[in-house]
Amino acid sequence: MIIDGKAIAAQVKASLQGSNAKLAVIMVGDDPASSVYVRNKERACAEVDIQSCSRRLPATASTEEVIASIAELSAWADGILVQLPLPEHIDEKKVLGAIPPEKDVDCFHPYNIGKLLTGETGLRPCTPAGILHLLGDVSGKRCVIVGRSNIVGKPLALMLLQADATVTVCHSKTRDLASYTRQADVLISAVGKPRFITADMVKAGAVVIDVGINRDKNGKLCGDVAFEEVAAKVSAITPVPGGVGPMTVAMLLKNTVEAASYQKR
Ligand code: NDP
Repeated sequence: MIIDGKAIAAQVKASLQGSNAKLAVIMVGDDPASSVYVRNKERACAEVDIQSCSRRLPATASTEEVIASIAELSAWADGILVQLPLPEHIDEKKVLGAIPPEKDVDCFHPYNIGKLLTGETGLRPCTPAGILHLLGDVSGKRCVIVGRSNIVGKPLALMLLQADATVTVCHSKTRDLASYTRQADVLISAVGKPRFITADMVKAGAVVIDVGINRDKNGKLCGDVAFEEVAAKVSAITPVPGGVGPMTVAMLLKNTVEAASYQKR
């Protein structure tokens, strides 16, 4: 089975209509990939009647200027996100820490990460939340994550653990990676390398979630998983594009609606 992330994301979006929530997006510089992501987010907001406002700051903006924009937009927005990566001279930790936690729809603020760790209710990071939505019940399942970034691998591990999965996190220093991935009932790859997960690394009948967004040697969008050969062996797999990507955007919208409802309480 190919897991249709686009269709499932559409269902999530349909449930969010009519919220009148407001999202502010801050982008610094003109990284082409970030511009595409910001445009997609604006478009997605329009689909579900979330008002969006994007502020583009020049690549030369200072940390203080980015923080000043956050403060200014906070007066209007229910949710605020700062598109990453930021130019190197900007203090990312300071910027993310300046987003009011109740408006932190990406869930990068240390307060929200703390709540995630202790399992308190609250906003959850978008990509891991989208993956959990796709997976449904993972109780008792052996989940192996390849990648330990703060955006995907680490928060996903915490959320799977909270959902009663048995979780292993692998990374670039893991010895004999395939010996772990082959044990997975659910294998999630968030590495960022095309054709990184091959059929010999996967257990027959497993569920495979491909988080990677890469370009192959012909410039075509692809994930981390060698799709054709792995799809032939597993019970379910997400495609790239059309898998985790649309779910991430849907979860951002869901978080915005949730943030708005927290603030109205
Ligand atoms: P990072 O580059 O931050 O992390 C990559 C991870 O992969 C690291 O933990 C790294 O290990 C690990 N890794 C690298 N090489 C190997 C190896 N040979 N064996 C095992 N592990 C390895 O990436 P992100 O988590 O930010 O993103 C990962 C991918 O997911 C990218 O393609 C990105 O574009 C995509 N992405 C997709 C999203 C979506 O919505 N679909 C959202 C976010 C990201 P180490 O820590 O040891 O360096």
